[in-house]
Amino acid sequence: MASSTLFPMIVNGQPVASPATLDVLNPANERLIGRIVDCSSEQLDATVQAAREAFGTWRDVPYAHRQNALRAIAGVLMNNISELKGLLTAEQGKPLAAAQGEIEAAAWWISQVAEMELPVGVTDAMPGQRSITRYVPLGVVGAIVPWNFPVLLAIWKIGPALLTGNTLILKPSPFTPLTTLKLAELMTPILPAGVLNVITGGDALGPLMTAHSAIDKISFTGSTATGRRVMASAAENLKRLTLELGGNDAAIVLDDVNVDAIAEPLFWAAFTNSGQVCVAAKRIYVHDKVYDDLAAALVRIAGNVKVGDGSQDGTVLGPVQNLPQYRRVKSLIDDSLQAGHNFLTGGNVTDGIGYFVTPTIIDNPPENSRVVQEEAFGPVVPLIRYSDLDDAIRRANDSEFGLAGSVWSSDTERAAAVAARMDTGTVWINSAQNLTPFAPFAGAKQSGLGVEGGVEGLLEFTTPQTVHRLVA
Ligand code: NAD
Repeated sequence: MASSTLFPMIVNGQPVASPATLDVLNPANERLIGRIVDCSSEQLDATVQAAREAFGTWRDVPYAHRQNALRAIAGVLMNNISELKGLLTAEQGKPLAAAQGEIEAAAWWISQVAEMELPVGVTDAMPGQRSITRYVPLGVVGAIVPWNFPVLLAIWKIGPALLTGNTLILKPSPFTPLTTLKLAELMTPILPAGVLNVITGGDALGPLMTAHSAIDKISFTGSTATGRRVMASAAENLKRLTLELGGNDAAIVLDDVNVDAIAEPLFWAAFTNSGQVCVAAKRIYVHDKVYDDLAAALVRIAGNVKVGDGSQDGTVLGPVQNLPQYRRVKSLIDDSLQAGHNFLTGGNVTDGIGYFVTPTIIDNPPENSRVVQEEAFGPVVPLIRYSDLDDAIRRANDSEFGLAGSVWSSDTERAAAVAARMDTGTVWINSAQNLTPFAPFAGAKQSGLGVEGGVEGLLEFTTPQTVHRLVA
């Protein structure tokens, strides 16, 4: 593949090019790896029209056939894994094994969504009337996804949207569009034209989608700041919305933990995908009694992690995915350096080629410091000492975010009692980040609106239609 290769958009089952293009770079070496179309407003209109026409028939395709379409998508992912994982590593930065893991997870996820059924509600409670509620599709859905898990997060939207009878216009992040475009091309033989369209563009395209009067719903995953803009823009035609937004997840480590047992999973709760996970542990509150031992164990693990180009053998963590995010992570590190915080490990960011940051752990910074209050979304984590559990829970909850959190303890019941007091949509006990297609994943507070996952996630792509019949 030449680096100047244009990856066309896939609209109405056809590749679509344009003279207006954007470059896509490899974050490990900053080299050009491909170009994408910068979709114009006319091209968006044509896409919406194609999706609208396809909706006319897709909505009536039997549910069992749509289930088969999802199973076929899982097959496309698995059958093309070697090509897709290379592309994903090149554009996203994650190591090849992690890229393979993401594609496998996406295939498994959509194969499980395929088995889900929509409920049908029947009530005879009104005398002389039977009321039957079915969940019908909304129409044309616009899906907007970020750059940390481009394939998995796209699949989270493709599966439920198509299964429930909607057609989809998917916009990947301009930083990581290539694997998604390749996937859409590979899917064209298995889906009717116009059912799944993938369009690409820069900062202007998302707002054009959210404001488009013929798009019925936006399913958005990204930052809270952008989520607010999406919500304001969607008001015009009262678009349905699902917003999966940012988080500043707290991990609370109780005084009874076995440090040796939890250090490794806790480390990866924070640093998987170089910290670029919405539900990464981003603030770690550790009881005074175990603080020093745990800090030493985490530093030991960090010392054995090789950070580098994800395409090279032995790399465990890749670069930060893009330049703006790299600058953001650096500014958090600089802020801590200037404030005189103690770095347990990491913190040395060089300005060479590639956006590399080694795992950085900051020793007990003040609660009001930027590194505690802001979502880093990178390999920088504060370890915060506490002695009063109630106070730790209060601090964990004192955030505009409410995405997820975790509690670490040798006593599961004790941990569960702490979990119940966390103001977040998801809490893990002695683990983190493991999401399931079978349960709703919802951001509390400003971490989101609506849910993905579970039957609840399917229902987000439908509206209830109740038909009342008279009965004797
Ligand atoms: P982002 O909000 O900058 O961008 C996300 C997507 O929105 C991209 O495709 C972008 O092109 C598009 N976009 C940008 N401006 C837009 C606008 N005005 N209108 C519509 N679309 C617009 O986020 P990011 O930097 O790509 O991703 C990181 C953020 O995503 C973090 O905050 C992270 O926590 C969050 N995230 C959340 C989840 C979740 O499920 N809750 C999952 C992954 C990432």
